[in-house]
Amino acid sequence: MILIKGIPFKKIQGITLFPFIIVKPKMPSMVLLNHERIHIRQQLELLIIPFYIWYLSEWLYHFSKCRHTWIAYRRISFEREAYDNETDFTYLKNRKIWGFWKYMK
Ligand SMILES: [Zn+2]
Repeated sequence: MILIKGIPFKKIQGITLFPFIIVKPKMPSMVLLNHERIHIRQQLELLIIPFYIWYLSEWLYHFSKCRHTWIAYRRISFEREAYDNETDFTYLKNRKIWGFWKYMK
């Protein structure tokens, strides 16, 4: 995992494009880094490219229902898992494989 800090994104705090975690703050919070590390794990589990296809497909599905970019993003199972567990710094130690699955709906 390679961390790149201080990128001036306008609307987002960070993005994970395996093996890179790219964040806006020069001093990113532990919560932000934990969130992005959860995405690294998800991407590894899905062998990277399928993750992006799945991620985009879920976003399109939710967007087709709600017609709202932010709400569609927050409904993606990978994001729900990351947001739900970003403050639990032991989460990745205890997480079972495909931990995002229970957030699918
Ligand atoms: Zn996220």
